[in-house]
Formats: sequence, C-alpha cells, structure tokens
Amino acid sequence: MNNPDALRKVCIVGGGTAGWIAAAVMAHHMKGRLFEIELVESDDIGTIGVGESTIPPFLELIAKLDINEQEFIREVQASFKLGIEFKDWWKQGETYFHPFGDVGQRIELSDFYQVWRKAKLNGHDFALQDFAPATVMAHAGKFMLPFKARGTPIAGASYALHVDAKRVAQYLRGHAEARGVKRTEGIVTDVALDDRGFVSTLTLKDGRTIDADFFIDCSGFRALLIEKALGTGYTDWSNYLFCDRAIAAQTENVGPPKPYTLAEAQDAGWRWRIPLQHRTGNGHVFASEFMSDDEATRILLDKVEGEVVAGPMVVPFKTGVRQQIWHKNVLAIGLASGFIEPLESTAIHLIYRGMDFFFRFLPDRHCDPALAEEYNRRMIADYTEIRDFIVLHYCTTARDDTPFWRKCRDMEWPDSLKERVELFRANGTLREGLDELFRSVSWFSVLDGMGELPRTYHPLVDRIDEAGLYAGLAQARDQLAGFMQQLPTQQQFIDAHCRAE
Ligand code: FAD
Repeated sequence: MNNPDALRKVCIVGGGTAGWIAAAVMAHHMKGRLFEIELVESDDIGTIGVGESTIPPFLELIAKLDINEQEFIREVQASFKLGIEFKDWWKQGETYFHPFGDVGQRIELSDFYQVWRKAKLNGHDFALQDFAPATVMAHAGKFMLPFKARGTPIAGASYALHVDAKRVAQYLRGHAEARGVKRTEGIVTDVALDDRGFVSTLTLKDGRTIDADFFIDCSGFRALLIEKALGTGYTDWSNYLFCDRAIAAQTENVGPPKPYTLAEAQDAGWRWRIPLQHRTGNGHVFASEFMSDDEATRILLDKVEGEVVAGPMVVPFKTGVRQQIWHKNVLAIGLASGFIEPLESTAIHLIYRGMDFFFRFLPDRHCDPALAEEYNRRMIADYTEIRDFIVLHYCTTARDDTPFWRKCRDMEWPDSLKERVELFRANGTLREGLDELFRSVSWFSVLDGMGELPRTYHPLVDRIDEAGLYAGLAQARDQLAGFMQQLPTQQQFIDAHCRAE
C-alpha cells in the first residue's frame, strides 16, 4: 500500500520561466503518477519577459527533460553562449572574459592557474585566457560543440544558450501540458490559510477556487503566497549590491549574433547585450541612488545597435533572498524566492536548482519542518555564494571616475568573500565546496580580469621540470589559436545544425 499521507495535489501559482520549469520538472518526475499538478497563471498580468542568458547546467536540465537540444534551439531561437565579456569593470578600457569550461589543462596534478602564475612571475607574457578554449572561440566568433571535438584543443570548452524567455515559457508549457499538467487561466485574488497556517485554498477573481496539499509560489516579484500570505520576510542585500533597477529593450539584430553575453560597465551600473537568432536583448542595470530612469534609458538607447522592436521598460528590483524559501506547505521558486542582479545569469539556474532540492526533500502532506529547514539552508547557501561572486565584480574595481564606482571600490565586503579572497591572495588557493556553482576557473577568470593576483604560486608547481615548460605553454596557446581556422562561425553552425528543415 502506498503512503496514505502522500501529496495528492500540487498547485503552482505563476507561469513565467519559473512556473513552467517547475511544472515541466515535476511532470517529468511524476510520470503521471503520485500527484496531480495544476498551474494557475494570468495572461492579463503577464510575465517579466527578461531572463535570456543562461549557464551550462541549463542544458543538463533540457537533457534531463528528454528535450532534443537542437529542436529546443530552433523553437526558442537560441544562440550559443561561450561566456561573458566584461568591459570597463576593472578600469575603463580594460576588458576580460569569463569563459565556460576549462582554462588550460592541469600539469602534473598542478592547477593550470598555478603554472601560469609561475610563468608570469618568471617574466613570460602569457594571458590566462589564451588557454581557455571558450574564450578563444568566442573572440573568433566561432562555434563547435566541444563534446563533438574530442581530442582537439577545444574539447575542454563548455557552452550555454541565449534564449527568448517568452518562447521558453511557451515551449515548456507545451512539454508540461503534454505530460498531464493542468493549466488554469485566472487571477488569484485571495489566499486562505487553515488552522496550522498552511495555505489551503486560492480564490480567483471570477470566484473559482483551487485547493491543493502543496503550493509552489512562482508569482514573480509579487511573491503572493510566500510573502503576502505567509509573511516569511526578506534578507536585503542592497548594502552589498547597489543596483536596484533595470531598463530592458529588444532590438533587431545587426550582423550575426556573437557567441557570448556582453556586460559593459556604465557610470552607475552596467548594460547587457544578449544576442538571439532573431533579435537582441538589451538592458541597463543601474543604481537609482545615482541615476534616474530617464537618464538610464537614454544611455541604453544611445548604445544599442539596431532598431528598437520592444521596450524600453523599467524593471525595479530589490536584491536579496527570502528568509524562508520553503515555509509550511509553500515553496517559492524563481523571483518569488529572491533575486540577485543578472550579471552572471544565475536566476534561471536557481529555478531548477530549487526544484532539484525540492525532490531531494520531497514532503508528504504534513510537511515536516525539518525538510524545509534543510532545504532553506542549502538554497540560501547557494544564494550567498552567488551574491559573493557578483560582489567580487564590483568591490575589486580600480575605477574612481563616478560616485557609483567610488562607492563600490570603498564598500565593506561580506566576511565570506573577504576570507575567500585573502586565501587566494596567499598563493592562489581557492576555497571550493564540492556543491558550489562557480568552480575555481570562474573565480580565477574574474579575479584575473579585476587585476587580483596571488603573491606567489603554490609550492608544488616547482616539481614540474622547467625545461620545456614555457615552450610547451607557448605551443599549447598557438595550437588553440590556430585551431580556430578550421571551425565554423556561430552563424554557419546554427545554419547547418539548428535551423528548421
Ligand atoms: P515572472 O516571469 O514575473 O512570472 C510570474 C508569473 O506569475 C506570471 O505568469 C504571472 O502572470 C503570474 N502571476 C502573478 N500574480 C498572479 C496572480 N495574482 N494570479 C495569477 N497569476 C499571477 N535570469 C537569468 O538566468 N539570466 C538572465 O539573463 C536574467 N536577466 C534578468 C534581467 C532582469 C532585469 C531581471 C529582473 C531578471 C533577470 N533574470 C535573469 C531573472 C529571470 O528573468 C527570472 O528568474 C525568470 O524569468 C523567472 O521569473 P518568474 O517566473 O519567477 O517570474
């Protein structure tokens, strides 16, 4: 006999990227058994409509859902993303790249970064990113699936996608509905609690009601259940990250899409450019303490290339995380759970991470608080790790040309970040938890791009015979650069593999 206390019905409130990812993941796990899933969303309210740059685990999600990657790319008009180019962050005129995948290869068990640091200290002028296949490919405007290039110098690269957010939600809706998810159109106007403080019933504007044993709040910044109904509270991180608004606009493409996201620092924030197959997403993230919406809009519109086809629209946000992402029988996923500015494209990742953990701690109808407690501890650790990584991009700046950048340069660092960077400064050693999103190569890339170097290198590097080492590095760099000649441009790759027949 199955557990009589098992969940019988789960209701998802909201049908943006979060709602439909949650629905698709649940439907996939349930295989039509266990519990019923109903998603309520309102076309009148709509979705946030931004969120178009992803990171490599997004493709693992697509694969886990048994979605064909090429078909998905076609349907959501995606382009490939090999990393992010950061312009003017450390100093004006300086650019660096945060690539996906390897940056060089380990040599005799030593991290490549350590070998590179020794080479630099010995006067060899190698740039770290010359050894990163994704960086070199991105700068050449080329693309090839790294797993189809085993044994070549680009095998260690990785990639993600730039996607059309609305099309992603539509695609996943089709996927979830085909697997039994019931969609209800309507506006939730009232949320009733039972005597345990659990959400019991939602009332829609037209009077219909929805009951469920468990609710997933994907209502975006409105946070209808987790905050408005349950009042779980919010940890505000605006003392570390000063931007609190964004202007977003879509433009026509000018030329073929570049295989990376651009993040260009501005006087009071930064702007993004996310190229898709059929259009480009643009935005300007800024601190309202230093800039008005009008000025931020003007700056964005001055910089975009191509005709504006949608927007500009203003998106206010508050950086931070819900104090309890799961409380009683409500779990918040997506913007309802918290938000850190999109500099490293982490929000969509946190959606499926949140669903992965949900399945790890799946409750029955009693929702044992121990499960929620552990879930909250794990998810808030992820949010904190991401916060620190984003703060790193700001607090290490050498810019002092505007009040915004002076405030970033002089800010108080979170203790957790301070400890990480102090450790790194000693000899390039990084604190790396096994379960962390950003691995050491990501930290090395950003630290290097922001002019942070360790005082020395790890002592074990001196085990490596120096004879031939530096000539070997030069050869590896030249082989990688030379290999680009044989690769198709990203546009050629898309035309050959990802276009409708
Ligand atoms: P929304 O898209 O706002 O969806 C909310 C849903 O709830 C909608 O369906 C709405 O109709 C429904 N709803 C709300 N109230 C009610 C109600 N009363 N009744 C019924 N339905 C209701 N993430 C990335 O990974 N990469 C990026 O590049 C990136 N860029 C971003 C840029 C900006 C400026 C911002 C603000 C976010 C960005 N994000 C990015 C985050 C990303 O956009 C979100 O994580 C993602 O879109 C998920 O949003 P959501 O589904 O939680 O909310």
